[in-house]
Amino acid sequence: MTRARPDHPFLDGRTKGLLIGGDWVEAADGGTFETLDPATGQVLATVARGQAEDIDRAVAAARTAFEGDWSRWKPFDRQALMLKIADRIEDRFDDLGLLETLDMGAPVARTRLFKRWLLQAFRYYASQAVNIHGQTLENSFPGAFMSYTVKDPIGVVGGIIPWNGPLISQLWSICPTLATGCTLVLKPAEEAPLSALFLAEIMMEAGVPPGVINVVPGPGPTAGAALAAHPGVDKIAFTGSTATGRKIVEASAINMKKVAVELGGKSPDIVFDDADLDIAVPGAAMGCFNNSGQVCYAGTRLFVQRGIHDAFVERLAAFGRTLRVGDSLDPETQLGPLVSQAQLDRVTRYVALAREEGAEVVTGGSRIGSEGYFVEPTVLSGVRNEMRVAQEEIFGPVVAVIPFDDEAEAISLANDIEYGLGGAVWTRDVGRAHRVSRAIRAGIVWVNCYGVTDPSISYGGTKMSGYGGKGGPQHIEDYLYAKTVWIRTD
Ligand code: ADP
Repeated sequence: MTRARPDHPFLDGRTKGLLIGGDWVEAADGGTFETLDPATGQVLATVARGQAEDIDRAVAAARTAFEGDWSRWKPFDRQALMLKIADRIEDRFDDLGLLETLDMGAPVARTRLFKRWLLQAFRYYASQAVNIHGQTLENSFPGAFMSYTVKDPIGVVGGIIPWNGPLISQLWSICPTLATGCTLVLKPAEEAPLSALFLAEIMMEAGVPPGVINVVPGPGPTAGAALAAHPGVDKIAFTGSTATGRKIVEASAINMKKVAVELGGKSPDIVFDDADLDIAVPGAAMGCFNNSGQVCYAGTRLFVQRGIHDAFVERLAAFGRTLRVGDSLDPETQLGPLVSQAQLDRVTRYVALAREEGAEVVTGGSRIGSEGYFVEPTVLSGVRNEMRVAQEEIFGPVVAVIPFDDEAEAISLANDIEYGLGGAVWTRDVGRAHRVSRAIRAGIVWVNCYGVTDPSISYGGTKMSGYGGKGGPQHIEDYLYAKTVWIRTD
């Protein structure tokens, strides 16, 4: 589609620099890249392209900041800073949300919902900043000794995030970093770096000291790999594909970095014949189609009990056809474009593969228009769980429907997958809801809903979906280490 780029205060035509040590700087080699609006394919901004040397500079700045006053700030001061950032975001959210829409394509109807999320994340983690404590431990060592633990910030953190929701995914490293007194080098994905740069600008205005938050957009295989392998980084928080996650974990061995990896998924969504179909049909559909399917925990394997299977598929396809796919800036739009030509190619390749494997494309399956990277919401039926379209992450609005006969079969099919991120159950039977949600091997399971999350509630993955949860009271523990102190008291 074609349209003029809207005015945006951040898109002022100037090349966007890297944030290192509180300064906006060029890449050491002077390199840049262009970031596109996926709805039009047009250039939004030129951005400095960070490479290994820039990562070195950013890690050095983060180390200096960590060793300076910052890590000794009082908890109430860190809390006050985070609350101030939240207030600034409240004032400037419209621009921040719009920038995310322009850069990664999610419609404004979706990105405006992120306001609540951002504010709650900063305010929730601000409350965590004043709740860090060790333990006093009684000991039995002969003589007079006192023993206790204190929690100290872990040090310099590397955050590596994907393009499918950077405004939110960056919070998972920024908020615990600020709450604990760590420092951060954040590497956003090249496809959508702008909201991270803009948020960093807002945080600097709010008074984050130089070097505490550094942002270095750049290519994964060079800048990302340099960060993951850097001996000056104490922890890596990574969100992205399982293949890259494996490289991150391998690279971390160089200095025994602490690692949290949130990786791919192929989440099961199970609809029993007693479900309320008026909520299950739209719920399961949006469980997969939301954000055009570019969600790690999307419910992409939809198991439907045989008695209601055909009618369900019909209603699902009808719902898919009603979804308004189009200009991300139109408030009525429900689904925007995919993020890039590469993603569009990947999704259309998988639809072709589904046909080759013998599945039926009940609705969708095609690109929409010739400008921007739009694809129709797609329902596949006649899928078997062992097919590649049922086992591999497509990362597009493609749901694979698979029939089942009874509860035992549904559980066994649901768990027959290498991933373990999300899952859902639709039923009116409370006992079954408990049994099946318990039996699904995944980090988060929803009952009669999908995709509900909150910064104060933790979630994470298991199996090949990674480890190291996010959110909730436990998360900041990953940014701290417990030091045991023994004191002779006689
Ligand atoms: P996706 O397929 O969603 O782009 P990736 O795992 O490739 O998922 O990307 C997620 C993030 O990881 C991005 O910021 C990307 O630049 C980065 N990345 C890609 N390859 C590497 C790598 N070898 N080492 C470190 N980071 C990487």
